[in-house]
Amino acid sequence: MTQSPTRSGTVYLVGAGPGDPDLLTLRAARLLMRAEVVVHDGLVDPSILAMAPRTARMISVAKSRARHTLQQDEINALLVREALEGHDVIRLKGGDPFVFGRGGEEAEACHAAGVAVEVVPGISAAMGAAAAAQIPLTHRENASIVSFVAGQCKGLSEQNWAGLAGVGRTLVIYMGIATSEAIAEKLIADGLSPDMPLAVIENAARPTMRVLRGQLAGLAALVADNKVKSPALIVIGEVTGRGDMMELKQVLEAVQ
Ligand code: SAH
Repeated sequence: MTQSPTRSGTVYLVGAGPGDPDLLTLRAARLLMRAEVVVHDGLVDPSILAMAPRTARMISVAKSRARHTLQQDEINALLVREALEGHDVIRLKGGDPFVFGRGGEEAEACHAAGVAVEVVPGISAAMGAAAAAQIPLTHRENASIVSFVAGQCKGLSEQNWAGLAGVGRTLVIYMGIATSEAIAEKLIADGLSPDMPLAVIENAARPTMRVLRGQLAGLAALVADNKVKSPALIVIGEVTGRGDMMELKQVLEAVQ
């Protein structure tokens, strides 16, 4: 019989930010560089995974259609098991662990099993994309309210979209590419102007980033014509129509 260790490990729920390793917090980088076990999902950039020591056990729980992947309760059980065996576990998640990252469920499972948890915040995709595309999420002239919404199918019909977008507000939609047509229809049916400007930001803070601009009525066509793929965010609101600061920067650089 194996003897149970006297001390169980800690589960660190660590935000890896939107992609660029420079956008990790120092705390995340320090933990990663001395990691023993890393449990990561698919959104985490390989250059960030490469920061873990060679001796670290890297466990991928990425969602993939091609192979069997762990269900959420299996992931929770894995974290608890590793910690109870005495290992410190770095649970690395894209963006921030508590923004559409199921970090809450994992923290609860650890607490229920008596396992210590530390949460390390990360730059969520909304902040990463806004910064990279130079779209301010708030602006004294255009927006003093920002909402983050999950746009995937489940819950789309029951979700109350009324009032989430409009004048004076910025709406950021995560996981909304597949349902972009239904989202635009719903917002327009709720009274939002079909001319409301928006931006779709794909692969924010990565070398492959694309920023596409358009209007609400043309959202589905913008996504389809440009073959936008996940991960991408939809940002709806006047802040996206304030003139393209990136283009302005390029024009200024060109005339210098
Ligand atoms: N916890 C993450 C969100 C996970 S949900 C966070 O805080 O950012 C996954 C969704 O996040 C994707 O469908 C996409 O909408 C968004 N996303 C994550 N990384 C992104 C990136 N680099 N660029 C654009 N969108 C991203």
